[in-house]
Amino acid sequence: MTNHRIALIPGDGIGAEVLPPAQQVLDVLGRRHGFTLDYTSYDDWSCERYLREGAMMPENGIDQLRDKDAILLGAVGYPGVPDHVSLWGLLIPIRRSFRQYVNLRPIHVFEGIDSPVRGAVAGEVDFVVVRENVEGEYSEVGGRLNRGFDDEMAVQEAVFTRTGVTRVLDYAFDLAAQRKGRLTSATKSNGIVHTMPFWDQLVAERAEHFPQVAWDQEHIDALAAKFVLEPSRFDVVVGSNLFGDILSDLAAAVAGSIGIAPAANLNPEREFPSMFEPVHGSAPDIAGQGIANPLGAVWSAAMMLDHLGHPEAAKDITGAIAAVLAKTDVRTHDLGGTSTTAEFTDKLLELL
Ligand code: ATP
Ligand code: MG
Repeated sequence: MTNHRIALIPGDGIGAEVLPPAQQVLDVLGRRHGFTLDYTSYDDWSCERYLREGAMMPENGIDQLRDKDAILLGAVGYPGVPDHVSLWGLLIPIRRSFRQYVNLRPIHVFEGIDSPVRGAVAGEVDFVVVRENVEGEYSEVGGRLNRGFDDEMAVQEAVFTRTGVTRVLDYAFDLAAQRKGRLTSATKSNGIVHTMPFWDQLVAERAEHFPQVAWDQEHIDALAAKFVLEPSRFDVVVGSNLFGDILSDLAAAVAGSIGIAPAANLNPEREFPSMFEPVHGSAPDIAGQGIANPLGAVWSAAMMLDHLGHPEAAKDITGAIAAVLAKTDVRTHDLGGTSTTAEFTDKLLELL
């Protein structure tokens, strides 16, 4: 029987409440499809640990994860701990050390979900945002000068490399070729005059290798508007680290709730573990109440199974998510209901 070594990092807030449902679902599928999951849990890699010890994870944290087949993460973030601490203390080191240069965020409007967007019809809105995940605008290059003086200034450089952009574009074009054959690239080359024209040039170059994919590019401002006005026109949307980040949160909202949206941080070459995490954060406003929507974490677990070579098991999970939303009125509060995490999970397991 295939065995997969999984690192579990529950993190903070509702992270620890949504991972156990994901694990319950995974274990059912392992029995059904003939694989086992061997979990190692890193329960204290969190902002609370940071407040106590000054670091989100131990100094050799990355090494502890290196031999795992995948990482399942809940959420990190804590009131009073600046967001950049959890980002740069845990998420970004994992993404960069393990060359998880693709951030994949599927968007699907399920039957039984009320999208805040009028034109977002269930079943018709089904696309994927591919975000460049390790370079671009989120760089450490830059600095501050003349602090406190009238001529104080801040400079932040964006870093785009031919290798880094090419590999994420190839992933996106290849994905489009396997889906509906359409790709949209997010740009802003009318205002950002060095990096974005370079990005556009590489898109045109890589497109030559994928003649079966119809592609276009849109300025990020117009694209954001189209996500709201005509979300069903998209198939694969590829963007830089910053643009992809913004677009995928917007798209998760179009799909009805940030509580459902999943994400995969992929190392497509499989030299290192990939990481799977719901798009939502630690949600301190509802943490500890047992009312978090577990579907984002459960769907992320499905993406993990797909990556580990169990696409049928992954489909069982997305099928059960679709069924629980279409056929039952069990809903957590983010979806307008009053059910608890446990009730939602039980119903999901029943349908599975
Ligand atoms: P963080 O700093 O960790 O990102 P945040 O304050 O940005 O936390 P999010 O977790 O991003 O909060 O949540 C934004 C809003 O969506 C909150 O009101 C939260 O309660 C709600 N929310 C997020 N995830 C879920 C979920 N799984 N179930 C229900 N509500 C959720
Ligand atoms: Mg947040």
